[in-house]
Amino acid sequence: MSELERKRGAAPVPVDWTYAPAPEARDIVSLRERYGLYVGGDWIEPHSGETFTTIDPSTEEPLAEIAQAGPEDVSLAVEAARSAFENGWSALAPSERAKYLFRIARILQERSREFAVLESLNGGKPIRESRDVDLPLSAAHFFYYAGWADKLEYAFPNRTPRPLGVAGQIIPWNFPLLMLAWKVAPALAAGNTVVLKPAETTPLSALLFCDVLRQAELPQGVVNIVTGDGRTGAEIVKHPGIDKIAFTGSTDVGKAIQRELAGSRKKLTLELGGKAANVVFDDAPLDQAIEGIVNGIYFNQGHVCCAGSRLLVQESIYEQLIAKLKRRLGTLRVGAPLDKNTDVGAINSRQQLDKIEELVQTGRDEGAEIYQPPCRLPERGYWFAPTVFTNVAQSYRIAQEEIFGPVLSVLTFRTPDEAVEKANNTPYGLSAGVWTEKGSRILAVAQRLRAGVVWANTYNRFDPASPFGGYKESGFGREGGLHGLEPYLRFESSEPFGS
Ligand code: NAP
Ligand code: MG
Repeated sequence: MSELERKRGAAPVPVDWTYAPAPEARDIVSLRERYGLYVGGDWIEPHSGETFTTIDPSTEEPLAEIAQAGPEDVSLAVEAARSAFENGWSALAPSERAKYLFRIARILQERSREFAVLESLNGGKPIRESRDVDLPLSAAHFFYYAGWADKLEYAFPNRTPRPLGVAGQIIPWNFPLLMLAWKVAPALAAGNTVVLKPAETTPLSALLFCDVLRQAELPQGVVNIVTGDGRTGAEIVKHPGIDKIAFTGSTDVGKAIQRELAGSRKKLTLELGGKAANVVFDDAPLDQAIEGIVNGIYFNQGHVCCAGSRLLVQESIYEQLIAKLKRRLGTLRVGAPLDKNTDVGAINSRQQLDKIEELVQTGRDEGAEIYQPPCRLPERGYWFAPTVFTNVAQSYRIAQEEIFGPVLSVLTFRTPDEAVEKANNTPYGLSAGVWTEKGSRILAVAQRLRAGVVWANTYNRFDPASPFGGYKESGFGREGGLHGLEPYLRFESSEPFGS
C-alpha cells in the first residue's frame, strides 16, 4: 500500500487476481463399481472375466472396473447386431427409425450436465468444453441424422440406398461421446446396426449412453457396446460377421486395419491423425488470429486430430504476433477439469503424457526455442503446460509428427507460395487454417491446401451438416453431412429411365 493510500485509509489494491475455485458438482454422476458389456440390450460379463480400471487422469483416482471383451464377447455382440438388423431394424419404416434418433438426441440434451461432468471426469477435458462443445455437438449429430433417416431416397436420387448390415466402430479417447455420436447417428439413420468399442482410457460416457438407449427404448441389439483395449478393436476388425468398419484413431493402427481388410468385402472409412498448418498472413486481424491460434492448439489440451499444431506466420508480423501470443498464454488457466474457470485440463493418460514429453525433448535437442508461461501444475495426475516452440525447422520431429498435446510449433514464411508449400509439406492432410483480411486470398490459398477442412479466420469449428475427413495419411471417407451417410449405404442399380 502506498503512503498516500495509507493516509486515506483506502483498502489495499489487490495484487493477485486469481479466481476462486468454481467446481462443477460431481454428484450428478453416479458410477457403478463395475461395468459389463452391453450386448443385445443387456449387461453381460466378459467371457474371460478380465477387467481393467478406468481412472480420472487429473487425480489418478480409480473410477470403475471395466470389462475386457474377448473374441467370444465380440462374436456375441455381432450376433446380437445381426439379429436386430434382420429381425426388424432394417425393415422398420425410416420415419420410425428417425423417431428413435430424435429421442436419443433429446435425452442427451436433457442429461447433458451429467454427461459433461462424466466426460471431464474420465477424460480430463475442461468442463467448459465438455459442456459447451462435446455435449451440444453430440446431440446435434443425432438431430441432424434423424432428419435424413426418412429422406435417403431424396439424398441419393435414382440410386436406391440400402443399409449395409452390421457396422463395427472403433473410436479414440479425445472426444469419447462426440466420436460415438459421429459414428452411431449416421449408421442408425441409414438402417444399420452397430458394435462399438470406446477407447480403453475413456469408456464411461459410452457406457452411460447405453442407459440412454434403454430410456429411448431402442430395440435390443441395434447398438452394442464392447469395452476393451486394442485387442478388442482388432477382434471387431477381423470378425467375418461385420460389413463395415469405421475407425478413428492413429495412423499406425489405421494402416494395420487397412492391411487386414485388403481383399475382403468389408467397407472401410479411416479418420486418422493430422499436423495442421494454421497460416497467418500479415494483413490478418491479429487479435482474432491469436484467439484462433490458442483455440487451435490448446483446445482439449491439443488432443485434437485437426489441431492447428504448426503455426505458419508471415515474417513481417512475426515478432509482434509472438509477443501477443506469449502474453495470451499467460492468461490460460491450467487445472482441475471440473473447475468452470479452467481453460486447459489434464492430459488423458500417462502414456500420452510420456509421448508428449518425449517429442518436446526432441524439440529442445534439435535446437528449437521453448516457451511455457509460468503456471503451477497439480502434483497428482497427468499435466503439461501450454507450450510454444519457436525457431523450428521443417525437418524437426515437432514440425513433422503429431504430438497430440498442448504444444505449438511456429515456422515462418515470406510469400503465399512458400506458405502453401510449407503447409502441404506433411504426410497428413486433415485440416488447415488461413488468416487474412482478403477474401480472394482465402479462396486462392484454401484451394491449394491439401487438407479435408480449411477454416478461414476461425478454427476448430464443427457442424453436423459439414463433412469432415482427410487426405493422404489422415485417412479417407467423410463423417458429417450427406457425405457421412454414404459409407453406411450400398446402392442398388437404379431403374433405367422409362421402364
Ligand atoms: P489409437 O491407439 O489408434 O486408438 C484408437 C482406437 O483404436 C482405440 O479404441 C484403440 O483402443 C483402438 N485400437 C488400438 N489398437 C487397435 C488395433 N490393432 N485394432 C483395432 N483397434 C485398435 O489412437 P488413440 O491413441 O486412441 O487416439 C489418438 C489418435 O487418433 C491420434 O493420432 C489422432 O489424430 C487420431 N484421431 C483422429 C480423429 C479424426 O477424426 N481424424 C479424431 C480423433 C483422433 P485402445 O484405446 O485400447 O488403444
Ligand atoms: Mg491407443
